[in-house]
Amino acid sequence: MNTAVARTRVCITIDTEFSIGGAFGDQARQPVAEPLVWCNVEGRSQGLGFMLETFRQYDVQATFFVETQQRHHFRHDPMRPIAQHIHAEGHEVQLHTHPCWSLFQHADWWNLARGQKEPDDIGKRSVDEAVKLINQGIETFASWQLPRPQVFRSGNLHHSDNLYRALAQAGIPYSSNVGVAIYDSGNPHYKLYSGQHERHGVREFPVLSFSDWKIGPKQNVKSLTIAGSSFAETRYLLEKARSEGIPLVVVLTHPFEYVQNRDMAFQQTRRNHMTQERLIKLCRFLQQNSDRFEAVGMAAAAAAIPATTAPANTLLKGALRHALPRMAAQVAYHRFGRWMLARKHGAFKNLV
Ligand SMILES: [Zn+2]
Repeated sequence: MNTAVARTRVCITIDTEFSIGGAFGDQARQPVAEPLVWCNVEGRSQGLGFMLETFRQYDVQATFFVETQQRHHFRHDPMRPIAQHIHAEGHEVQLHTHPCWSLFQHADWWNLARGQKEPDDIGKRSVDEAVKLINQGIETFASWQLPRPQVFRSGNLHHSDNLYRALAQAGIPYSSNVGVAIYDSGNPHYKLYSGQHERHGVREFPVLSFSDWKIGPKQNVKSLTIAGSSFAETRYLLEKARSEGIPLVVVLTHPFEYVQNRDMAFQQTRRNHMTQERLIKLCRFLQQNSDRFEAVGMAAAAAAIPATTAPANTLLKGALRHALPRMAAQVAYHRFGRWMLARKHGAFKNLV
């Protein structure tokens, strides 16, 4: 009998998407495609390019949740080569959906956007509407000649019972739609901090949420992201997750978090050394500790976890000694970045 304890799976998930670029608020503005993903600084990709290079160097398989509704706006299909490139690098390409883009199907999208209260909340859609949105993604993957998506992540981590019913109906077995510190639907059934949870026939693996500090009765809950947590904090949580028997840790990030920008078009940018350093350290740690941790795509990880695993919902506790220096460092680096960008591109005033 094999008594070896399974390695703790670590899924670095990257929401890979374009930006409305303020167009819903001001018709003169334009949505932004490739610059938000590649994030070039002086001709070098400090977003997706940096991430792929880092993953290659430390032998990490990641999961890219690729947004497909943007095809209603960008007719030249700029995400196709991006998704195919990611797939060719050996990572999982899974489905991400921001329903707001579907407004561009209509000639009067401008009025529709202003009339709709929550144009980007898939959780507020009927089951049929959500199935339609999901199927657009499945069809997109087929036309891009990519494997059918098996994992879904909703835009803004919005979710509802209807969404899970729709995912089951569309034949998507796994999801990562919950990150309680990012979006709280108010439904206690979806207050999911960690682990695996079956909802309407879909297995949900939430972005890890943890308590980063507690002072007296006040406790702060945070979702695990590269932009929001230091490496010391992340490493501490990974070790805790392992000792608590959490089978899979989901980390959330975006390509644009690896640069600092001062314009919506991502033309005036600089490298974000702080977040880049965090990702490098995390990947190096995962490689050096590959006897205990496995950096693997979400579908592969989910398939390896028995569906019958008891649905524990552990809220890990971070340490104030990590949270405080992280907060101070982030404020300082943000200020430094603004100062550097102003030196390079001029003062910030009157800019978007
Ligand atoms: Zn998104």
